[in-house]
Amino acid sequence: MERHSSDSGWIEVITGSMFSGKSEELIRRLRRAQIARQKVQIFKPAIDLRFSDQHIVSHSEMKIASHAVKSANEILAAVEIDTNVVGIDEGQFFDQDLVRVANILADQGKRVIVAGLDMDYLGRPFEPMPLLLAIAEDITKTRAICVRCGSPATYTQRLIASRERVVVGAADAYEARCRVCFDPHLSEKAGD
Ligand code: ADP
Ligand code: ZN
Repeated sequence: MERHSSDSGWIEVITGSMFSGKSEELIRRLRRAQIARQKVQIFKPAIDLRFSDQHIVSHSEMKIASHAVKSANEILAAVEIDTNVVGIDEGQFFDQDLVRVANILADQGKRVIVAGLDMDYLGRPFEPMPLLLAIAEDITKTRAICVRCGSPATYTQRLIASRERVVVGAADAYEARCRVCFDPHLSEKAGD
């Protein structure tokens, strides 16, 4: 994104289904900031320690060092005054305070980049991501490939039976699907 003023911060959101390349895109932007000798701090929620507790890891095994935090306010407390860029992965697993925290950091002149799921396993907006989309200066919607038909995919299909909104840790529990192939009721039927 073009910089307009040397002391202005802003918020970028990278959003889409699972496997759509959100983490890859986040890592790419953060690496480029590091190459530009910007001070970068990177966070992810402590809930998502599937691959590593000290890295963001993409499904294609790109990775970058990160800190695991339990709340959005912990990010605010950890960001140092001379940090230029704040990267946050798995934004949907944070509390609603993430919206306020992102605004505060951007108001301090920092570039804030948040990646996260736009929808949950039923295709419902996954808070706080829709709220972040509303306040962001820049939005990128990434798309995966539907594993059923090969079309661009925007939905995350849950393959196991569970009505919990957050189910992490099960490696084969999700796949990317297009609108036609997506079946929100499958997770209720699975295992019956
Ligand atoms: P996200 O953070 O959105 O879950 P990642 O950045 O972790 O996505 O992973 C994206 C990578 O996942 C792709 O570059 C590709 O190598 C791999 N991948 C696996 N399944 C799919 C799929 N159905 N569609 C697109 N990419 C997929
Ligand atoms: Zn499809």
